[in-house]
Amino acid sequence: ARPVVAIVGRPNVGKSTIFNRIIGDRLAIVEDKPGVTRDRLYGSGEWNGRAFSIVDTGGIEIDGEDEIMKSVRMQAELAVEEADVIVFMVDAKAGLTHADDEVAHMLFRSRKPVVVAVNKVDNQGRSDEIYEFYSLGFGDPIGISGAHGTGIGDLLDAVVEKL
Ligand code: GDP
Ligand code: MG
Repeated sequence: ARPVVAIVGRPNVGKSTIFNRIIGDRLAIVEDKPGVTRDRLYGSGEWNGRAFSIVDTGGIEIDGEDEIMKSVRMQAELAVEEADVIVFMVDAKAGLTHADDEVAHMLFRSRKPVVVAVNKVDNQGRSDEIYEFYSLGFGDPIGISGAHGTGIGDLLDAVVEKL
C-alpha cells in the first residue's frame, strides 16, 4: 500500500486549501464504513516520483472552543494511527496558540515523523514569521502560502524525505 500523509491542525489554518493544491483532481471516493468518521477526505499525491495517499482532517464545522479542541484532538489521534508522516499545520497570522501546543504534545508522544507547515506566509519578505514555531520541537518549520501556492514544493521535499 502507498504511504499515508495526514494533515493535522486547528480549524482554519488552511489544511483543506493545501490538501486541494497537493491532490489537484485526485480526490479518492471512500465508501462509508461503520464506525469511521466521515470527517476526513482522502486523495493521492506524487512528488519526485514518490506516490502517497494524503488525508485532510477536520472537515466538519463545529462551534465552541471545547468542541473544537475535542475534535482537533480526535483528528490528531486518528492521524497518528494511520499516517506514516504527519504534516502539522499552523497559522503564521494567528501565531502560536495553546491548541497548537496541545496537538504538538500528542504528536510528539506518537514518535511518528512530523513536518511543521506554517501556512499564510503570504509575503516572502516576512518569512521570519516561521521562527516562533521552532518551539514546537519538530525541527525546521516550513513557510507556505495556500493563497499563493508558495513553499509547497519545499514542504513536499521534507515530507517525501521522511516517507
Ligand atoms: P482548514 O479549516 O484548516 O481546512 O482551513 P481552510 O483551508 O478551510 O482555510 C481557512 C481560511 O484560511 C480560508 O478562508 C482560506 O481561504 C484561508 N487561507 C488558506 N490558506 C491561506 C493563505 O495561505 N493565506 C491566507 N491569507 N489565507 C489562507
Ligand atoms: Mg478543512
